[in-house]
Amino acid sequence: MSANQSVLICDQVAPILNDILQKNGLKISYEPEITSDQIEEKIGNFDVVIVRSRTRITKEMVSRASNCKIIARVGVGLDNIDTDAAKAKGIRVINAVEGAMNAVAELVLGLMLSLAREIPRADREIRNGNWLKKDLMGIELSGKYLGIVGLGNIGKKLARHARALNMNIIGYDVIPIPDDFASEVRLIKADIDTLLSSSDFISFHVPLTESTHHIVNAQKLSMMKKTAYIINTSRGEIIDEDALYNAIKERKIAGAALDVFEKEPAVGNKLATLPNVICTPHIGAQTKEAQALAANVIAEKIIMILRGVM
Ligand code: NAD
Repeated sequence: MSANQSVLICDQVAPILNDILQKNGLKISYEPEITSDQIEEKIGNFDVVIVRSRTRITKEMVSRASNCKIIARVGVGLDNIDTDAAKAKGIRVINAVEGAMNAVAELVLGLMLSLAREIPRADREIRNGNWLKKDLMGIELSGKYLGIVGLGNIGKKLARHARALNMNIIGYDVIPIPDDFASEVRLIKADIDTLLSSSDFISFHVPLTESTHHIVNAQKLSMMKKTAYIINTSRGEIIDEDALYNAIKERKIAGAALDVFEKEPAVGNKLATLPNVICTPHIGAQTKEAQALAANVIAEKIIMILRGVM
């Protein structure tokens, strides 16, 4: 690793990342509020650029990244980085798939329980002076069918957690699902339409690609049970939000819990006006443990790549 290699950190990251890189002799510019224009201006000076989800690394930025060897995403999704442009320029793009697995899976459990028992509404009503015990008749997760679309790292983790709550798991993925995992969680493998029409809760764990953009549209929503809930912690753009709004408003499905939105920050999103929708501000990986793990993984990968051993 040559001396004085420099790193631009564009988003807020766990301090441990800074510490490890500095201890390994890297020069850090920590600029968690940096704008796109400023990145374009400075990117040429850095060997490594680190982002979370706030910053978009565009084709234009990549074209100016004349010294850059690594673009690192402290997280999972790479849809905020022009990976094709980076690849064409010989820049390595790395992420930390391990970090968010448990955090996102636990958030989904929280969202399912919140939908099933209307916990956010119960809390809101008490604060407004209302004791709604009779209205708040919930359902239990035990024995219900959970459909998981995308059985990668997070989908698998969720399946294991949900089995512990005695849920039945229906799974769909575009790649073959390993048999040992399927038997561990007693997975019912299904095509997406069967999953949609049979599940009580449907949770999405797919990357945002051309094939997953609006994978949930009016036609797919019409296949769901009237009593079913949809949960999205993957990427907002996989759901046609207008179609989801109409389906919930017209009571074609029971409700939704959303951590991600087509446009973020999603302040003012009309879905948040519906009583049977729960919204969280993209907090899937927002735990101390997930951020520390992702920071450690990214620091280690950067050092290994710069030392030429990865
Ligand atoms: P992963 O790559 O391990 O798994 C994704 C799975 O989706 C793969 O098995 C893949 O084959 C499958 N898939 C791809 N296209 C599909 C399709 N059309 N239909 C069905 N399955 C399909 O990714 P992961 O670590 O499990 O993460 C999933 C997504 O969660 C990420 O891509 C990211 O967008 C999102 N995420 C969100 C947060 C958050 O803060 N809310 C945090 C981390 C990750």
